[in-house]
Amino acid sequence: MSTRDEVASRRGDVQKRIRMALNAAKAEERATIKGGETTVAFVTEAQCIGCDQCTIVCDDDAIELYDKAMTSPLIQVDINRKAKILRDPCTGCRLCVLACPTDAISMIDR
Ligand code: SF4
Ligand code: SF4
Repeated sequence: MSTRDEVASRRGDVQKRIRMALNAAKAEERATIKGGETTVAFVTEAQCIGCDQCTIVCDDDAIELYDKAMTSPLIQVDINRKAKILRDPCTGCRLCVLACPTDAISMIDR
């Protein structure tokens, strides 16, 4: 039977392997997302949960949140916000794409 220390050591090794795999996946994702001056961010409204992560990382004030009315009057929530990209200030830096937890943002050609 494994001792508590052995289990903790194995757990640490697994954590390291998972972290390395996630970092590698993130780096690959970052390398494949197009960006730059010829691109602009785009929010797929249905996937946006209004979490505000994209506005925090955007250094160019190119994202605004707006209130969206619920489609059904039967559903009552205090806030239903969505993100909107302001095309002119967007520099195509891609930070919002990497920050969005629901993959709601993609980069499109200007
Ligand atoms: S990070 Fe994504 S889900 Fe959150 S507000 Fe921005 S677009 Fe919406
Ligand atoms: S691509 Fe960069 S500048 Fe454009 S909205 Fe996203 S974070 Fe802001």
